Amino acid sequence: MTTQLVTNKGKEKCDPSFAKEVMDKSHAHLERCYQCVACSSGCPSAYQMDYPPHQLLRMVQLGLKDRVLNSNTFWICLSCETCATRCPNNVEIVLVMDQLREMALKENRKDSTHLPLFHNTFLSMVKFGGKTYELGLIMFYMVKSGDLFKIKELPSLIKLGINMFTRGKLAILPPHIKGQANIKRIFELSEKTG
Ligand code: SF4
Ligand code: SF4
Repeated sequence: MTTQLVTNKGKEKCDPSFAKEVMDKSHAHLERCYQCVACSSGCPSAYQMDYPPHQLLRMVQLGLKDRVLNSNTFWICLSCETCATRCPNNVEIVLVMDQLREMALKENRKDSTHLPLFHNTFLSMVKFGGKTYELGLIMFYMVKSGDLFKIKELPSLIKLGINMFTRGKLAILPPHIKGQANIKRIFELSEKTG
């Protein structure tokens, strides 16, 4: 049942089933979090997030679904696991971040950045090539986001591309790996099980 909660943002919709859904689907033990802030203190991306990881977890616990799914926190998360390593209660924070991304995509939540687009483009590359293909990723992302047509930024991007290529960081051809079909199958299974 949805209720209302008075927060520092005024009255907000509070849906307790949201916390349960996140926990059930992510298999993370959110109930163990006692807000010690160790995760956020070590997070290298917290300074760019709307809400640092510990706050986001608290908002999930409280069922503040709209605020959580409209935040940029889980898009900014690098999945570096620093938070999980520091957590005294072994809360699987990265699993929560993954789950929130999936939920936000399913609900078509709008993000002010192009991060969901980057996320989807990256996953498509891995699905079809078995691993990431940087040149394809950059080109697809830039065309879809419209960044390719920002003429002012083009010279610096070309320079960056040349630097990466000369250092062997940018392959011209897409990768070909053994077991590519297995990777595709993993994606298909995960799409089926939601
Ligand atoms: S996994 Fe995400 S939330 Fe955790 S420390 Fe890394 S960037 Fe921060
Ligand atoms: S480190 Fe663990 S217990 Fe502490 S706030 Fe973060 S998730 Fe919660």
